[in-house]
Amino acid sequence: MPENSYEKTLSSLGVNDSIGVSWLFVELRRQFTSELADAVKKNEWARVRDRWMRSGNPIVEQLEKNWVKPTPPELQEYVLRQLQGFRAFVGIRLQAGYPLEHAEGRGPNWIENEFLKLQTAFDNELAGCLNEQDLGVTKIDWMGRKSGVLGLITETWLKPSPSDLKPVVGQELNKLRKHVESQLELRIAAAEAGAEEEDHVDLSLPGVVRALGSRHLIRQVFQEIEDIFFSIGFSVVEGPEIETPYYNFEALNIPEFHPVRDDMDTFYMELPKGTPGQLLLRTHTSPMQIRTMEKQKPPVRVIVPGRVYRRDNPDATHSFAFHQVEGLAVDSDITFCDFTGTIEYFVKQFFGPSVKTRFRPSYFPFTEPSVEFDVSCVFCGGSGTTASGTCGKCKGAGWIELFGAGMVDPAVYGFVGYDPKKVSGFAFGIGIDRLAMLKYGIDDIQAFFQNDVRFLKQFP
Ligand SMILES: [Zn+2]
Repeated sequence: MPENSYEKTLSSLGVNDSIGVSWLFVELRRQFTSELADAVKKNEWARVRDRWMRSGNPIVEQLEKNWVKPTPPELQEYVLRQLQGFRAFVGIRLQAGYPLEHAEGRGPNWIENEFLKLQTAFDNELAGCLNEQDLGVTKIDWMGRKSGVLGLITETWLKPSPSDLKPVVGQELNKLRKHVESQLELRIAAAEAGAEEEDHVDLSLPGVVRALGSRHLIRQVFQEIEDIFFSIGFSVVEGPEIETPYYNFEALNIPEFHPVRDDMDTFYMELPKGTPGQLLLRTHTSPMQIRTMEKQKPPVRVIVPGRVYRRDNPDATHSFAFHQVEGLAVDSDITFCDFTGTIEYFVKQFFGPSVKTRFRPSYFPFTEPSVEFDVSCVFCGGSGTTASGTCGKCKGAGWIELFGAGMVDPAVYGFVGYDPKKVSGFAFGIGIDRLAMLKYGIDDIQAFFQNDVRFLKQFP
């Protein structure tokens, strides 16, 4: 270690971590202790006190200036703590090394009082010990043969004390030594016991069981639907949830001011000022019909599963976010029969072979003709009545509205560059949440979004 390290910064000493800092302070302690021991013999106690702690530019202040202040924040706090410990170390030793002969009014009371201060300093140091290593350092600080505080007192107070005070000093010193020994012994025993306990592992204890999650019912229904359509040659495509009005409306034959836009109260995005055009959260998965046909020549057979958004107030059957599977088949020879056959196949696969289907004429802007598909009520078997009277689910009708569909309106082909004279096809849009509610007897759509584990656990 270089001479007068306290005059240099840590970086110029080549120290940049806590281990290096610890070593510097160990060396400083050694230096101070030997200086004090020398000085006490030569009656130069006051010079040591001034040099380290008190006058002019004392070493502890240089340490603060050179070691603490210019040090990067990640190490600074550590250096500061070490310096605080060092100050206490120096303070206690200066007190213990104070020559008795200089003490004004030194008498038995003064001596008792000084020993009480030392005991308090020891108790504080012991309370700051965090582990066995700290306790070891404290033990050497106080009981070490060469530099311990107790040894220092023996040299500076006990040996030179006049005969009238010697018994008092001896008695107090013994009291302090017993206190230091017994307290250290207690703490060290406790630390060892604690370490032993930490090492002990009880292998007979049961392990920590982590609950495994499962797929959400909506995800499971998506999978069921995808599997059914896979089996008859459809493939799956996915698309963006943020769309342009062109794909969400215009290209689907829903021009601006078309009344159907009123049914789809839409979330428009707030865009930075000056951005041309508009963006919105898609109100159906139908935009992917257009995007798919733009990219792909017929034949097209796709389903589009995904989340869609409408400004609906949440209640038992409405939510501002819900799920759809859009289907599209376009080829040169697709007929209305292919269409109804496909839908019937799907419904029977999904609900079971005993359900009946029917369709009623309806209207959608992008299909012509359009139909509304109904399925015989899965709760009353289509009879409209249950044991307790009229079926509440179908309100006695025996049928439940399932989804809308139809043959693709030839006008739509114009948007994607298909020749409406050569191709034909059908499209359908299935509400997944509604389908899941019907199949699994769930009466509140909100249950899908609340993520209550008691609900989710019923569909492992
Ligand atoms: Zn019914």
